[in-house]
Amino acid sequence: MRVLVTGGAGFLGSHLCDALLAKGHSVVCADNLLTGRMANLEHLLDEARFEFVEQDVCRAFDVGKVEYVFHFASPASPVDYLHHGIETLQVGSVGTLNCLELARKHHARFLLASTSECYGDPKEHPQKESYWGHVNPVGPRSVYDEAKRFAEAATMAYHRTHHVDTRIVRIFNTYGPRLQINDGRVISNFMKQALRGEPLTVYGDGLQTRSFCFVSDEIEGILALSRVSEHLPVNIGNPREFTVLECAQVVLQVTGSESTVRFEPLPQDDPKQRKPDITKARTLLSWEPKIELQRGLELSLEYFRGAVASRDW
Ligand code: NAD
Ligand code: UDP
Repeated sequence: MRVLVTGGAGFLGSHLCDALLAKGHSVVCADNLLTGRMANLEHLLDEARFEFVEQDVCRAFDVGKVEYVFHFASPASPVDYLHHGIETLQVGSVGTLNCLELARKHHARFLLASTSECYGDPKEHPQKESYWGHVNPVGPRSVYDEAKRFAEAATMAYHRTHHVDTRIVRIFNTYGPRLQINDGRVISNFMKQALRGEPLTVYGDGLQTRSFCFVSDEIEGILALSRVSEHLPVNIGNPREFTVLECAQVVLQVTGSESTVRFEPLPQDDPKQRKPDITKARTLLSWEPKIELQRGLELSLEYFRGAVASRDW
């Protein structure tokens, strides 16, 4: 297949490009480099089946005939989407409509990278796909949460109205090599701070929870979903839940760092708990994450050491 990956210069998008090329597909990556980096694609630039197009997907565009559209373009870390609030709303709305239109035109299948943020600060735990969420529509995180909820609604509308063959993956916190070192996410911050011997900044009391999925597990789950005909959202994430303080302990263990912990204020509307119910993915895709947090951080250590040493941030 010839496949379009939007946001392919980012963390997840670049791993997706790698995985699709490894399966023998041709990949066109469209990215405006807002939060992504060409360094994530450097190893692909001599690959004949790979093409990079610098493109803001909020502007109408076409890349020729494609059989599949993976729409991953969007700032994703809280620091990035708070900094680029309007761009985040645009890429979730106009950008998603443009990508759906492109899929319709080429009779291509379409997969939307959505997010656990659709559940907001959830009242149901763990989160099943049937839960409608608890989102503050005017809070600081709304630029991301509502953009992604709009993107899901647009995807379902194109499926129902135009019969585009769509899928929606709700991605839970994912980490691994190529996570941007300065994107402010908890794993990138803690790894950077631990390797520099600085205090690990724990927001609030550190008892809020997240569930961390290693990137290879996440990509495997997304590709499995891309092959089945399920149009409603599917959670892909690792259901093992950690408090942020427990996550800090694992980072200190893996890095061998003697950093201390420094408590800082909790950002507004920071979800108190998050853990995917992955029954649907298990049943539908026979998929299961394999890599636990400690192992995943060990596999990421060399990348983070290099990123910290490069001072390219
Ligand atoms: P990232 O910031 O590393 O990658 C996003 C990419 O999209 C970047 O390369 C950026 O330049 C590009 N982009 C942004 N706006 C664009 C536009 N208008 N036109 C073209 N390109 C644009 O983030 P990521 O972690 O790789 O996230 C990728 C996708 O997965 C996002 O849609 C995100 O919402 C979703 N997601 C990620 C996670 C996670 O834990 N990493 C969790 C949930 C959802
Ligand atoms: N967090 C933290 N210290 C940091 C960065 C994040 O304690 O340096 C917390 C944050 O408040 C949240 C969790 O870690 O509760 C995950 O944050 P992240 O930004 O990685 O993603 P989120 O899941 O909030 O989108």
